[in-house]
Amino acid sequence: MTCDQKNSIALFLDSVNDFLGSGYASKKEYSFLDDSPYEPSRKAQAVEKKIDTFEVASDSLQRIINEVYVCTNCPLHKTRKLPVSGEGVREPAVLVIGEAPGAEEDKAGRPFVGPAGRLLDKMLSSIDLSREKQCFITNVVKCRPPSNRDPSPDEISSCMPFFARQLALLKPKLILSLGRISTQWLLQTDESISSLRGQWKSYQGIPFLPTYHPSALLRNESWKRPAWEDLKMFKAKLQEL
Ligand code: URA
Repeated sequence: MTCDQKNSIALFLDSVNDFLGSGYASKKEYSFLDDSPYEPSRKAQAVEKKIDTFEVASDSLQRIINEVYVCTNCPLHKTRKLPVSGEGVREPAVLVIGEAPGAEEDKAGRPFVGPAGRLLDKMLSSIDLSREKQCFITNVVKCRPPSNRDPSPDEISSCMPFFARQLALLKPKLILSLGRISTQWLLQTDESISSLRGQWKSYQGIPFLPTYHPSALLRNESWKRPAWEDLKMFKAKLQEL
């Protein structure tokens, strides 16, 4: 099945989901079908509770993928080939957050599949992690900035709601933040990545460790040693949990 076919099925399922959601939401109309004031029975209350849970639970990783696929919230949609929502397991121990897709990610629609991605895979495997087993990998910006320039603050802030929803669904135990852009944005600081790396922080109550971005490690070999120290700290924290 092609990517486009998968996406149209996903969009169809999503609209069914939307339809069911709004159908259920019309529950308040029941009160007008009855002469007596709306007094939900015990059974009705249980149904209402289920409905609320249904509405909250109606967000999904697939829905986010679908929305990212058609997103035009910032100018990056005009130059992207494919948006890159993120990928990994549904209940990850670890959420890995990077900056934005590069050229290879833009072609593949998958995060970290270029040279930096190959190094990231090695970094993860050095601490017994892999994207197929314990991780979910995404970026603060889901579309490639032209010529791999830094994403602008406006582009990041228009993309952040997707990340917020991914985080709420994934509930990772730990976050590994790769590089300056994701780290400064999520921690809302201007401090350099050299001073932030290797120090445990917290993001929305989740332990958050900044380290160097694998692209930076490819440019500067001497940062590999401190990055390895960070990864060991990360592994130790994961083992404590
Ligand atoms: N760099 C990133 O920050 N993210 C990717 O997905 C690829 C390269």
